[in-house]
Amino acid sequence: MSKVNIVDAPEGFEGSGFFATSLDKIIGLARSNSLWPLPFATSCCGIEFMATMGSHYDISRFGSERPSFSPRQADVLLVMGTIAKKMAPVVKQVYLQMSEPRWVMAVGACASSGGIFDTYSVLQGIDRVIPVDVYVPGCPPRPEQIIDGLMQIQELAKNESLRRRNTAEYKALLDSYKVL
Ligand code: SF4
Repeated sequence: MSKVNIVDAPEGFEGSGFFATSLDKIIGLARSNSLWPLPFATSCCGIEFMATMGSHYDISRFGSERPSFSPRQADVLLVMGTIAKKMAPVVKQVYLQMSEPRWVMAVGACASSGGIFDTYSVLQGIDRVIPVDVYVPGCPPRPEQIIDGLMQIQELAKNESLRRRNTAEYKALLDSYKVL
């Protein structure tokens, strides 16, 4: 028989018949366990993501089984594969079409740094055009590594203040990427 774990409750005060915590923590808990990925796969790393979606690795254990091919309903942009410079504006446009809060994961060496393709036509990392939250190393990374990257995003989502996206620091980050 399979063992089902329930996610830990956030910190708070409890007593007989009540539990009180802050709104930040409840929203963080909900967001972190229902992150919808937008798979932007251009080459081999995308195949590893397909394995991550399959029954053996079962990404639905993390509430992320619903891939969103519409940026408007996606929470996490997963860029997987070699990104040619001609493709860079497309990656940026997809990012721009996602609503806040949004997170970005660079999956594999190509998305993180251009990988083995140190050449004129390949973008040397997607962080040249959009901000990245988590980098997953490997060529290709195994599905366990992709899951680990997703768990890192879960931690960010869980602990992020509701006001972070309004801070001067966050606006300066977007400004540095010329994102309005
Ligand atoms: S990192 Fe390796 S496996 Fe992934 S897209 Fe690049 S060449 Fe392919």
